[in-house]
Amino acid sequence: MFDLLIRNAALPDGRTGMDIAVRDGVIAAVEPGIAAEAGEVIEAGGLLVSPPFVDPHFHMDATLSLGLPRMNVSGTLLEGIALWGELRPTLTKEALVERAVRYCDLAVSKGLMAVRSHVDVSDPRLVTAEALLEVREIVKPYLYLQLVAFPQDGYYRGPGIVEALERALDMGVEVVGGIPHFERTMEDGARSVEALCRIAADRGLRVDMHCDETDDPLSRHVESLAAQTVRFGLQGRVAGSHLTSMHSMDNYYASKLLPLMAEAGMAAIPNPLINMMLQGRHDTYPKRRGLTRIPQMMEMGIPVGLGQDCVMDPWYSMGTGDLLDVAHMAVHAVQMGSVADKRALFDAVTVNSAAIMGLEGYGLAVGCHADMVLLQARDVGEAIRLRPVRLKVIRRGRVIAETAPEVSVLRLDGRPGEVDPAGYAPGN
Ligand SMILES: [Zn+2]
Repeated sequence: MFDLLIRNAALPDGRTGMDIAVRDGVIAAVEPGIAAEAGEVIEAGGLLVSPPFVDPHFHMDATLSLGLPRMNVSGTLLEGIALWGELRPTLTKEALVERAVRYCDLAVSKGLMAVRSHVDVSDPRLVTAEALLEVREIVKPYLYLQLVAFPQDGYYRGPGIVEALERALDMGVEVVGGIPHFERTMEDGARSVEALCRIAADRGLRVDMHCDETDDPLSRHVESLAAQTVRFGLQGRVAGSHLTSMHSMDNYYASKLLPLMAEAGMAAIPNPLINMMLQGRHDTYPKRRGLTRIPQMMEMGIPVGLGQDCVMDPWYSMGTGDLLDVAHMAVHAVQMGSVADKRALFDAVTVNSAAIMGLEGYGLAVGCHADMVLLQARDVGEAIRLRPVRLKVIRRGRVIAETAPEVSVLRLDGRPGEVDPAGYAPGN
């Protein structure tokens, strides 16, 4: 007797006709034709069941603040940072908590159950950290929130930030952040990378820095981060977010840097939506798009997780909470359209990010948490193409969100009466 049985599912690895049985919130069996009773049975009808989506790069203290106190007119990263600086002194804990928890409702409806959020610690009052620590507890039953102490204004650029970052870690923020390309000089940037990696090593924490989120081909902080990772023995615990300078770098230099990153066991977290929107702003035409070298990284065995970065905040007026939007953009922006490419990009919004964040019990293997998403699509390539309805979102074996299938009624003489977008998969 199981609590839940999902029948006839397709899995991300390409297996079809699989049943998934759940007992006590854990996956108890994954095989075809499970003949057993269950409290609840879900007929997947050959559609895809995936582990939950994971967002390894987000700003939950800024989300849903679009228009406060005004809109970003130029649309640039720098006006976004300036705008955030105007908004920050007016932030209250209550408003931050309300917006973040409301965002998590949307995230869960899209099958997103783990988020790594940077928390700005540039204002030594640390209202943001206090609020997000509270949010972490509120959403714990349905969404794992991992927090990064992030000195948005620059670790060395404002009064009290060095102390505030450590205080945020003392309060329970669990990852060390940074923004070396935003320090005043290349030297200050390199110094910040060293100091922040030392803090992580001393405290036994992970590191995730906004690193070289710039079009400057001569920015060298990715190199510093790889070197300090090795120096402090942080292999496997460090991620560089954005790494957009690598788009513009000289190919010879990149051919040296990529192996250094691989050797350091460093992960990369590109954010395709925001990188496409914010990079190349100083170019006329041709215009660089600033997304880092994802296919080359994957070839080198560098773990790549894709993040959203922003949803409706001073930097980005778009965003839906759907990690499949992110993968969809990546397919185009780095030209990864093959079957194998799409499978790799699906991994980048699920298993890779789970590994980067150190999630335990994640996946569809026996013994994993029974956290799953049933999508109205037949395989992972179709999921990225369609960004389909999340029919069921399941947490520890319980359905916590559901959406009716998308079916259009057609009124055309001699044509079928309905169109199911999932019915167009190759071979159907
Ligand atoms: Zn960010």
